[in-house]
Amino acid sequence: MSRYIQHSNQPPTNLDAVAEDIKTALMVAVSQCYSQTQHFSGTVYTGLAGRVLMKYYLSSLPLPHEELNARTSLWSVQDLRAGGDRDIVLILESTPERTWKVHDASRIAFLETNVGVAALGLCRALEGSEDLLKHWERCAQLLQQALEHVYAEARSLGGGEDGCEILYGRAGFLYALLLVRKTVIRVRGGSDPALPPPLVQSAEGLVADDSIRAVVSDIVRCGEIGARRYATRLASAGSADNTAGPPLMWSWFDTRYLGAAHGVAGILQVLWSCPAAVIAPYLPRMLETVQWLLGRQDSTGNWPAEVSISLNQVQENELIQWCHGAPGMVILLSNILQWSRAHTQHAHVLDPALHETLATSLRAGTQLVYQHGLLRKGLGLCHGVAGSVYTLLAASDALDLDVDSGQDVGTQWQYLRWAIHLAHLATNHTLLVARGEMGVPDHPLSLYEGLAGMCCAWALVLCRISRLQLRSGDGDAVAGKRAVVMGSGHGMPGYDGLGWEGGVYRLN
Ligand SMILES: [Zn+2]
Repeated sequence: MSRYIQHSNQPPTNLDAVAEDIKTALMVAVSQCYSQTQHFSGTVYTGLAGRVLMKYYLSSLPLPHEELNARTSLWSVQDLRAGGDRDIVLILESTPERTWKVHDASRIAFLETNVGVAALGLCRALEGSEDLLKHWERCAQLLQQALEHVYAEARSLGGGEDGCEILYGRAGFLYALLLVRKTVIRVRGGSDPALPPPLVQSAEGLVADDSIRAVVSDIVRCGEIGARRYATRLASAGSADNTAGPPLMWSWFDTRYLGAAHGVAGILQVLWSCPAAVIAPYLPRMLETVQWLLGRQDSTGNWPAEVSISLNQVQENELIQWCHGAPGMVILLSNILQWSRAHTQHAHVLDPALHETLATSLRAGTQLVYQHGLLRKGLGLCHGVAGSVYTLLAASDALDLDVDSGQDVGTQWQYLRWAIHLAHLATNHTLLVARGEMGVPDHPLSLYEGLAGMCCAWALVLCRISRLQLRSGDGDAVAGKRAVVMGSGHGMPGYDGLGWEGGVYRLN
């Protein structure tokens, strides 16, 4: 049996009806996510912290909260945030001190370690949450401890090429720091006098340029070690044309993965979310690595989950899900295109030839994700339909609109319509499961494996539908909403959508 459910490849045209179906499914699903407290572990990936992130995410989207709250009283912005805060406190208070620790720099990521809880708690303290203002020191202390492990391993030149991926390692920690940094910048703009000065100073120190630079530099150092080892393996494997590896390569448990969860695409994705001045020295190597990745795309538009020693080996690349295969690459390439458009003064923007190669590769990968994106494994972000929907939304941000001019580029919002189609098909998930066409994951309500991830995707799709309707209905209203239509400051929770400081994109 294939890994995906076939669909018509014909996006629906009645967006009002689609929006109503998605809204209904979303409200039922959010109630389910509230109703059970199973899988109480703290992690964002499959634990309670993931459903906390869902609540914060839903509270921050421009949804019709009042209308939704009138239908199911879970939806006021205040209640969503207060509910998330209570859950974070619950996790903090039930996590013993002996496990609230970081042991090495390869286990410090936002998604799969307590660093995720600490980062969320610190962000909410900075936003003035009374519940979290009582706990900010514990959150900051864990993040500081993780940062010190990075410093220590960098000084000792430890770590090798392992331990940098996004699910557990340094790139996932970098995501946590960037999330806190974004909050610090926003809060500083509002200059809330009620915040304790030690909290602000501590957070500013954690996310200062020097901290971000240290983590980035260590990730690149590990990537260079990995690239040298990979080049040596290629050379020893034989033929002369096998000797060209990328300048950056990492591994996870001795396997050189390419995708989002454990591989090169995920690590580069977070690097590209850092301040431009910090990554400037590394951009030539990052771009060269991307060019090498473009050369690994197969004729179907997919990428292998891991690299082989023989670059010419024909592989069958089965996996097309966020964690492995095309989706992670599509999100990365979409972000690079947007980054390049937002940094036109920068020395390392894409030259026209690479821009075209990258866009061609992106279009092929996106089409594959659309056709194969109704995944049988379920609804979550990691290897479920929500991950496919976010991939298509990222592609829409890059391909549906020329950001420099604000004009349509003639796609008729094709990529957004594909995202809407998959999101709509997922509203039938109960029926698909009953028919045996879709499975139920181990953590059915979780963010990365289950329903909470789909709730976030549905909610963002609803926002995009309303803006698409606004756009087609009233051209004048569009002029001032270009950035909102494009990014709205939201991507896949825990992974994408951090935006760029000073760029036109994704500023909330
Ligand atoms: Zn997965």
